[in-house]
Amino acid sequence: MESGLALLGGPKSVGSEHREIFAWPIITGEVEDAVLEVLRAGKMSDIDVTQKFEEEFARWLGVEYALAHNTGTAALHSAMFGVGIGKGDEIICPSITYWASCLQVYSLGGTVVFADIDPETLCIDPKDIERWVTPRTKAIMVVHYLGMPADMDAIMKIAERNGLTVIEDCSHAHGALYKGRMVGTLGDAAGFSLMSGKSLPCGEGGMMTTNDRRVYERAVAFGHYERHGFVLTLEDLKRGAGLPWGGYKYRMHQLTSAVGRVQLKHYPMLMAEIDKAMNYFWDLLEGVPGIRSHRPPKDSGSTKGGWYAPHGIYHPEELGGLSVQRFCEAVRAEGAPCYPGCNLPLHLHPLFNEIDVYNQGRPTRIANSPPGVDVRQPPGSLPVSESVQERVFTVPWFKHYRPEIIEEYAQAFRKVAENYMDLLPGDSKSGGHFGGWSTFWTTRR
Ligand SMILES: *Cc1c(COP(=O)(O)O)cnc(C)c1O
Repeated sequence: MESGLALLGGPKSVGSEHREIFAWPIITGEVEDAVLEVLRAGKMSDIDVTQKFEEEFARWLGVEYALAHNTGTAALHSAMFGVGIGKGDEIICPSITYWASCLQVYSLGGTVVFADIDPETLCIDPKDIERWVTPRTKAIMVVHYLGMPADMDAIMKIAERNGLTVIEDCSHAHGALYKGRMVGTLGDAAGFSLMSGKSLPCGEGGMMTTNDRRVYERAVAFGHYERHGFVLTLEDLKRGAGLPWGGYKYRMHQLTSAVGRVQLKHYPMLMAEIDKAMNYFWDLLEGVPGIRSHRPPKDSGSTKGGWYAPHGIYHPEELGGLSVQRFCEAVRAEGAPCYPGCNLPLHLHPLFNEIDVYNQGRPTRIANSPPGVDVRQPPGSLPVSESVQERVFTVPWFKHYRPEIIEEYAQAFRKVAENYMDLLPGDSKSGGHFGGWSTFWTTRR
């Protein structure tokens, strides 16, 4: 029977290109005016606009302290220093994430141990965390991956039981709720990337947040020397005031702060529209074989915020073993963006196995560990992380609720899934390379 799949010569599901529904970031006249004002005043390196942005961000999130940074990477670095990570310490981080969830720990003299992810949430699997706890473990780095809130109740219990601090990497999940509470308020500190591809896009920038005065002051000491005089109250920190302890200069460029203030003002409304659009897309695909949404259950009180880099979960066993590559190829032929894979498992990268970054004569991963301790994790250590590439695919990231357009895209996925049998003969299942170490958003919008 002829299925009419576009890949096999049939008509496409998506009639025309819909650029407006995907355009990102959204730059309005209001954003432009805010930037020009700072530019014309020559205040790019001041901190007055940044401080207003921080106050508004802290109020929106519901935390005591927000400290703006020039990248999300820097914000997370400060959070690690803020909670006291130092030489020989270990942090536990999921293997499937962007490198900036953990790699900064090297420069603090610490190291990272990876935990596996849960195959449904794609976030760190609480059941796998304690396997990796050692006397040297200091913190758990939680990533609310691809907008999905991680299982914080279980994670906080483990942290308490083992005396660990918890840092949340919220770079994918601005405004997401975990059982009704904002992610970024649940651990001891949090970091948010605000770079232009993320769901709260401000430019290159990041925000560190905490309710803990000591964490905040340590972060200020680390890379914000210009604030030492009026922020530092703790005696041990005041002694070293005037110079940044980390040797880093981490303040936010005020053109980013200006963009951020406008973006944040409109974000709750935009986020609500994205949430409505994405849920509509997935509701249309409910019950289609082989594919599942990656979103919290309805009525759980949990949400995905701005749905950064949305993915679906793939079940090839329901589609005669059809490879995810072939599935995505057919969806793309229908006119919808769809790519297999996600971030590659970090524990297998050479930087976490063999590379000696700081000339210590040993791989940096173990250079500061006690003699005889080797935390490296060979292939096979984290089975879910190592096989997830075949089980996830990207879906369109709708920024607006336009039901008739969204229906066309949903039809592309439905049509391919329902006609999978026609694709089996041409499916070489040849593995191939997909997923990436970073920035998959640039090529997959
Ligand atoms: C983007 C990202 C970061 C780093 O943010 P930058 O602003 O790019 O430095 C950290 N963690 C995750 C999970 C990210 O996706």
